[in-house]
Amino acid sequence: MRVDLRLGRLRAARLEEWDALLVTNLVNVRYLTGFTGSAGMLLVRRDDAILVTDGRYATQSAEQLALAGVTADVEIGPPARQRDVVKAGVAGLGRVGLEAGSITWAAQRTFAEEWGSSVELVPTSGVVEELRRVKDQGEISRISAAAAIADEALARVKPTLAGKPSEADVALALDHEMRRLGASGSSFETIVAAGPNAAKPHARPSSRRIEHGELVVIDFGAVVDGYCSDMTRTLCVGEPATPELERMVEVVAASQAAGVAAVHPGATGVEVDRACRDVIGDAGWADAFLHGTGHGVGLDIHEAPWVGTTSTDTLAIGHVVTVEPGVYLPQYGGVRIEDTVVVTDMGCYPLTKSPKDLVIA
Ligand code: ZN
Ligand code: ZN
Repeated sequence: MRVDLRLGRLRAARLEEWDALLVTNLVNVRYLTGFTGSAGMLLVRRDDAILVTDGRYATQSAEQLALAGVTADVEIGPPARQRDVVKAGVAGLGRVGLEAGSITWAAQRTFAEEWGSSVELVPTSGVVEELRRVKDQGEISRISAAAAIADEALARVKPTLAGKPSEADVALALDHEMRRLGASGSSFETIVAAGPNAAKPHARPSSRRIEHGELVVIDFGAVVDGYCSDMTRTLCVGEPATPELERMVEVVAASQAAGVAAVHPGATGVEVDRACRDVIGDAGWADAFLHGTGHGVGLDIHEAPWVGTTSTDTLAIGHVVTVEPGVYLPQYGGVRIEDTVVVTDMGCYPLTKSPKDLVIA
């Protein structure tokens, strides 16, 4: 993973537009420097960079930048001291970019007051996120490791479904197995939703017991070295209770396969979405597919590029995206199937490798 090249790529891509960019999104700070602290800012100037953070991270910040091979001045102090350092860093500059999506109204006003009228504050959006779309080999291997942990956790927990555990029991067991297998945590709150709860795409796991013949939607992921994975499987202990539930699964499986087949460099997010949506629409459930088809995955669980009806993105080699169509019938049941895939010159290959068999015997 070549963290050391990223500041150079940022400058080459966009820094012509400003004299400096103040990075306040901590995921972006991590991406550019390797620093994982919970507070800090990175001022990227044309020729150098300054990381400011507080005393909790004095040792850690120096170690992490050195490990990543990143050259930046590190200044440690309380927030007021950090702002003084940034103020000195922007003195005499004309245009300074701020990350509009992460900075608060209050912080923007404070900077405007402290920097004075000679510095123009320029709102920016998605600048570092743009660089983050294309993953290098080191990033892909981390996402792949996270996906493998999730696969293995599901394989271990799946047999317990026969004993009618609660949704919350299953979620806890998955989280526990992922940690035991080496994940630093879950990439988001694990979703286990059975029967009518499965009709709510982002239901919270409840104390409700999972009955045989119900569809169970399990959507979860692991984090490895900051990188997330994301997968969904729909399972059923024994045969589904009704033929319609079974048909929902068949349609979503076909939709998901069509979406994966549509992923290749140059495909747009809209095209991949349409490949999924057409299959579900042909089955008469167009209105039951309640969300976008997919999203990028990396340091954030949801990041660019986006796969959906309103996406403006085009896929490229090295993008990592999910394909996750679903059908949800209120008060009745739901199905979602999701793989995380890497875009390659040939099309894509899945990082999620769990079988898609519905029925647990
Ligand atoms: Zn998911
Ligand atoms: Zn997802």
